[in-house]
Amino acid sequence: MQKFENHVSHPAIHTIKMALLLTLATLCILPAYARGDLVTDVETEALMLNKQERYSEAVNTAKESVKIAEDTFGADHPRLAKAMSVLGLIYFSQGKYSEAESVYLQALKIDENALVKDHPDLATDLDNLALLYQAQGRYAECIPLYKRVLKIREKAFGLDKPIVVTSRNRLGSLYFSQKMYDEAIPLFKQTLAIQEKTSGPDRDSIVETLNILALAYHAQGKYDKVEPLLKRALAMSEKKHGQFHPEYATSLNNLAGLYKAQGKYSKSLQLYKRALEIRERSLGPNHPDVAKSLSNMGTLYFSKARFGEAERLYKRALSINEKALKPGHPDMATLLNNLVVLYNTQGKRAKAQHYHKRLMNTWDSALKPESNISPATQGTTQKKKPYTGRVYASKFSRSFHRRNCVELTGNEEEIIDFKSREHAMQDGAIPCKTCKP
Ligand SMILES: [Zn+2]
Repeated sequence: MQKFENHVSHPAIHTIKMALLLTLATLCILPAYARGDLVTDVETEALMLNKQERYSEAVNTAKESVKIAEDTFGADHPRLAKAMSVLGLIYFSQGKYSEAESVYLQALKIDENALVKDHPDLATDLDNLALLYQAQGRYAECIPLYKRVLKIREKAFGLDKPIVVTSRNRLGSLYFSQKMYDEAIPLFKQTLAIQEKTSGPDRDSIVETLNILALAYHAQGKYDKVEPLLKRALAMSEKKHGQFHPEYATSLNNLAGLYKAQGKYSKSLQLYKRALEIRERSLGPNHPDVAKSLSNMGTLYFSKARFGEAERLYKRALSINEKALKPGHPDMATLLNNLVVLYNTQGKRAKAQHYHKRLMNTWDSALKPESNISPATQGTTQKKKPYTGRVYASKFSRSFHRRNCVELTGNEEEIIDFKSREHAMQDGAIPCKTCKP
């Protein structure tokens, strides 16, 4: 899953590079081509400076290219929009989200006025903005953008061009992260069908697609569909990399999850142990994926009431995550939640409270970077004041509720207690339509 996400988010930079190459090609026939080349040169320099971590120089250089583009082509020209997108990308890579959003929105506005509504460059603008929103956890705003991107690119390039596959995977992964499996599964199946008939780099990602499709079916409880997909993924990884590769461990880990859900505990434990061993050997003992394995094994021991072993594994995972992850990472929230449940089940209230407090702080720090709402989205956020009290969700549902809502189901230990509506939204949950929290 993690690998899949990495795979799908990276091509943003390729998109920009492609845009730059296209620009170079088209500028040669423009009367102002010399100045156009200059914009491209300055942009290239800005990107280079950014890559060398000379951040403020990179920003200033990108601003310069925006100015040259505006002077040469005018304030409503798509070339200016492209220069702005490069500046936006640089801001984005530096974590300056509100600055990035502002220039991305200006670029989009220029292209919306200058280009036909299904122009591929418009898809690039929308894609940039969507990636930014995704990085900020603004998933609800992200989905309609990715849908438009996919539609434009399918029409412009056909169903199975790499850029279209990438767009489809991004939308699918986002649906997946929002637990919208009915929407995600058809997209993953389409990708799989394309990967099965093509060769080259697209085909290399087939194991990732098999895994994520399996996880989506798993989440829906369609276990009979999961096992064949994962066995196929395992066989393909083994053939390609052998049995001591992280990719093989991911498939093993997912298969262990299936066996656990089916109550096949000893089979599950055996696979978790193998996955852990491979990850420790191939990624090093302090990698977040090692922590994930430890945490997964911990939940297995927990469900067998082997609390001491569960605690030992969770604590090891915690010490890795404390060093390896940024504050607010979802894996950290999951792990802290596991610890709260573990100690509550054993009646160790003080310890449970300690980790509960840390869990709340984790969500707080996850919220920090997205506290500013853009002018473009202010109009669309609901006017009526949202509920500000604590909200609750079942671990396995995508909605959150007020405490007394009839729709809130699940065992006590499966209920996640969020400090506020924002925290729940940040975690990808959506408000219940019945109790309207
Ligand atoms: Zn409700």
